[in-house]
Order: sequence, then C-alpha cells, then structure tokens
Amino acid sequence: MSMTVIQSIDRHSPAERAGLRPGETLTHVDGHPIVDVLDYKFYTYDPRLELTLRQPDGKSRTVRVRKREGENLGLNFESYLMDRARSCANNCIFCFVDQMPPGMRKSLYFKDDDARLSFLMGNYLTLTNLSQREIQRIIDLRISPINISVHTTDPVLRVEMLKNRRAGEAIDTMRRLAQNKIIMNCQIVSCPGINDGPQLHRTLTDLAEMAPAVNSISVVPVGVTKYREGLYPLRPYTREEAAALLDQVEAFAQRHLEEHGTRLVWCSDEFYLLAGRPLPPEDYFEEFTQLDNGVGMLRLLSCEFERALRLVEPEDLMRAGAFSMATGVSAAPFLQQLVDMARKKCDKIEGYVYSIQNRFFGETITVAGLVTGGDLIAQLRGRPLGERLLIPANMLRSGERVFLDDVSVDDVERELGVPVTAVPQDGYELLDAMCGLEVSPDRPLHAPGEDTEYYQYNP
Ligand code: SF4
Repeated sequence: MSMTVIQSIDRHSPAERAGLRPGETLTHVDGHPIVDVLDYKFYTYDPRLELTLRQPDGKSRTVRVRKREGENLGLNFESYLMDRARSCANNCIFCFVDQMPPGMRKSLYFKDDDARLSFLMGNYLTLTNLSQREIQRIIDLRISPINISVHTTDPVLRVEMLKNRRAGEAIDTMRRLAQNKIIMNCQIVSCPGINDGPQLHRTLTDLAEMAPAVNSISVVPVGVTKYREGLYPLRPYTREEAAALLDQVEAFAQRHLEEHGTRLVWCSDEFYLLAGRPLPPEDYFEEFTQLDNGVGMLRLLSCEFERALRLVEPEDLMRAGAFSMATGVSAAPFLQQLVDMARKKCDKIEGYVYSIQNRFFGETITVAGLVTGGDLIAQLRGRPLGERLLIPANMLRSGERVFLDDVSVDDVERELGVPVTAVPQDGYELLDAMCGLEVSPDRPLHAPGEDTEYYQYNP
C-alpha cells in the first residue's frame, strides 16, 4: 500500500474544508509527484494548490485548496516520512550499533541513514545511499542545511572506514552541493591511528575549501564498548593522544579564524575531558552550531547555570533540601564544580555527585547518555541520595521513562527509594531541579509519530 494514503484529516483544516477524504492517495500537488514528506512539505507551501487524488476505486480526482502561505494542509499519513525509513548501506568500522550488547529491543539495532531525517530532524547521513535524483532534489528544492558524517575526505580511506565501495564518491557530491550553496554541517568520528594525524589535516583542509558552504565541523572521539568481538580492532583515545588531537584541531581552527572570521572546526567536550583540559570559554564556540555532537554542551550548561544562580536567593537554595546527581565518569567532576559553585552562594546546600561506571557497555564508555538503569541501581544502592536523584534526560530513551537497558525510571525509584528527576541539558533547568522545582520534559529526538527509535550517541 502506498504510504501517501491519507489516514486522517485534521478538524477545521484546509484539507477538511476542501472535502478531502481518508483513504484517498495524494499523488500530485500542482503536477509534482508526491513521493515522501519532503515533496509534501515543499509543494504544499503555497496558498493556492491543485491536488490530485487517487480514490480507493482507482479513479483520480482534482481538488483546489486555498489556505494561508505555509499553513499545514492538515493531512496525516501512515508514517511521518510518508515512506519507509531508509537504513544505511555501510558497515562502518566504528559503528556503535554493532557494539551493542545482544538481546536489546530490535529498534535499537536499526541503522538509520535517511536523508529526509537529516533535513527534518537533524540526523547525520553519510551520502552513500542517495540516488542522483535525490541529490538533484536537494539542490532543486534548496534543502539546507544538511548534516553529513564525513570522517575522512580521502576516498580510499573512506571506503575502508565505511566498508562501502561508493563511500569515496561522497566528497564529489559534497563539492557539488557546495557549488550549489547547500549549507553542510560535518561530523568526524575520530579513530586513533586511522583518520587522525595527517589524515585529519587533509580532511579539515578539504572541508575548509568548501566553506562557507561547509558551515561547521565537529571532531568526536570514537566510542568503544566491550562488545567488539570479531569487529575491526579499535581502541579509545589515551589522555596524551586526546591532548595532541586538541592541539592540532585548535591550531587549525585558530588559523581559520584569523583568515575567515570563524573557527569552523571544534572538538567535542569529550576530548577535553579525556585530555584533562579545561573547557574553552563560551565565546570560543561562536554560535554553538554543533551542540548535538556534544561540542560546547558543558560550557553552555555551566554558563546558563551561573546566570541562573545569580537570579536565586541563598534562602531558595537552603530550602531545596538534600539532593544527588548521577552522571557518566567523564562529566562527574564537571557537575561537582557546578555544585561547588552553588555552595559558594549558599554553604548549607547538600548535594552529592555520583560518577557511574559503565558496566553495561564497558568502562571505556564514560558518557552520561549511555549510563543504564541497572548500573544506577547497582552503584547507588545504600549511598546517601537526599530527597531526590537528578539524572541527565539523555540517559532515557527519547520521549520515554526507560533507560537503554529497558530498566524504567519507576524501577530505579522503587529500588533506590528516591524520586528521580530527568533534567534537560539546560543550566536553568538544572538549578530548578536542584531546588526541587519542576523541570520541563526534554525535546524529542525523533519525528513525532515515527515508530522507529533513533539511537543517538551523545556524550
Ligand atoms: S555508523 Fe552510522 S552509517 Fe555507519 S554503519 Fe553504523 S549506522 Fe550505518
């Protein structure tokens, strides 16, 4: 069955007023074929539309619609994409999905590399499964910005790293997109001894030549779990290697800043934590374009926290009662600094910060977003937790109260005997949570109504 069959129509919407009916298939808008959500969103923008519909008996009819410019037509389809989500055609040597323990939910093993989700939801794609028609559509519809997992611009190495013989062609595709002024935000997953050092220099130089179409680049360290049996030999960065990579990237960024007024490339916070170096100041991150890759996330959090702290009275903090916070190993000292900052304002504040070792994925995984409910329970049982336990919201699956290991927040509350608050990545919300005030739920990471979960590896 076509996935552009109308499932339901919003009440009082332009589509309802025009007499569209569930069960009809939207085939064309103003003569343009509708294949998926991108066609639908783009071609239904105008205020006057001519829709071609195929009825359940196979006959076609045409309907004219009038609405405000940009107003949603009000049609709902079987899935948000109006098409099946496309899985990736690669077998990357560093793929996190391959390093997951067995026996988890099937949807967590889904490897997404769908261009539509990149445009609409900010997912990263490798450009290895796009047809020429789709590349042309990006240019024609001016779909921009797009997020691209580059990893290397050496075509031979890219084929090797992505284990896809088409992977080397993506660099020419990027040049074509750049010539057509499509904005690209790029990500490099850096693997020690593979795509760093001189290879990283080459990649940054090639990408910088495509600026300003290449708008930003993040360099993030590879995540290595204990489930790598039979996989490509990979190891995490050592402290010295992380420091050397930071020096290299910061020097490149400084030269680019002097010549072009922007750094263009940033390392993720994880590199600073690994190297044991202080995070750069707020203005270093410019527009914070790469927050989703953990670039500047902790600096932004601490600046927001500091500003929020200026707005509260010491008595508010005193009334807060004791609390505890749990996070991954790498961010724990950082959160401790925030609690210490709050203590300077009110020395009566009672807050415990716990660093949770990742026994589920392996202790080389130190990011907060991959801490599981089982590890929380095992490591916090019997410890002082105060009146509430705060956890970063990214420990939970998007839009759910469940950790990656299927343990629920309710399970943790019951086992530890303390209410748990999931705190969004926001310094103001963090201070509210410390004070026992309500916090708003985190934004969803995937499309509303989409039944696939998109696993994100975020520090
Ligand atoms: S890292 Fe991404 S693109 Fe590569 S195999 Fe895994 S899901 Fe696919």
